[in-house]
Amino acid sequence: MSLFPVKRAPIVLLLLVVLAAGAWFFLKEKSAPVPPAPGARVSLVAIKADLAAQFSGQNAYAHVKALDEIGPRPPASAGYMKALDYLEAEYAKLGWTTARQTFTRATPKGPVNFTNLLARHGAADWTKSVPAVIGGHLDSKDIQAFRFTGANDGGSSTGVIMEMARVLATDPAAAAQVELVLFDGEEAFLANLTHTDGLYGSKHYAKEIAKRSTWPSVGVVIDLVGDKDHPIQYNLDAPERFAQAVVKAAKDSGLELKPYPGQIIDDHLPLQGGGLETLHLIGDFQNMPYWHQAGDTLEVIDAEALEQTGRTVLRFLGGL
Ligand SMILES: [Zn+2]
Repeated sequence: MSLFPVKRAPIVLLLLVVLAAGAWFFLKEKSAPVPPAPGARVSLVAIKADLAAQFSGQNAYAHVKALDEIGPRPPASAGYMKALDYLEAEYAKLGWTTARQTFTRATPKGPVNFTNLLARHGAADWTKSVPAVIGGHLDSKDIQAFRFTGANDGGSSTGVIMEMARVLATDPAAAAQVELVLFDGEEAFLANLTHTDGLYGSKHYAKEIAKRSTWPSVGVVIDLVGDKDHPIQYNLDAPERFAQAVVKAAKDSGLELKPYPGQIIDDHLPLQGGGLETLHLIGDFQNMPYWHQAGDTLEVIDAEALEQTGRTVLRFLGGL
């Protein structure tokens, strides 16, 4: 004698599977951010294609150089705070309103205070989103063994975003479509990025935008985009129309672009996890011998590479 007659065992099993699936679904739903109500996403109105041609690699390079001169920028360091002051002053000159998004997280090195820097052109209502978010990380990896300023790893994307702020400001209707975000704490405190160490800033940002009354509809994250000797890679887990638009935008901008298979852990993942479809552009860092080494200096940065990426992002937004 058994508890369940053999004939009924498949039914019992099926019932257990259904119950387990239901519990899993419930738990998953509980931990995920609340999805936006239909229509709550603000759609991107095309950004004029001729804006991209105004993007200057030399201007972007000047920002990368300024950041390099400030020195290492690990979270909460004097260098990070100085970089924030520099960037806020630059944004103000261009008519952008900034907000420091601060929060504290437990890390392998104890609790750390982080600061994301958000920017909107003109007056900003932070309770609502605008159609597009363009982000990159500002922090440099905390390395004590040598002076590490992350000219490419953190500096290059920041320089591109700052020059994008200048170009967008020449067309207020286009600028009104975009929120620029510099993430803190992208880098892990331990040797490598994991799902628990690193991406502190983008995780916090994704949670915060979920509280707004409207949601963006497009995300772009750029990283390690200053070295012309290495192609830029893009993610395949974004919508097909993103891939089509970025391939065309890169071609029009002279940028060598290739898709990367699988997944790279970077700031686009928390945005995607929060329901924002996000394009990820990242230099082929696995083949950069200086990645997280002393050699990540201005020497590897090329104004033309910065220009190609900046123009690609603007053309991508214009081509969606
Ligand atoms: Zn890095």
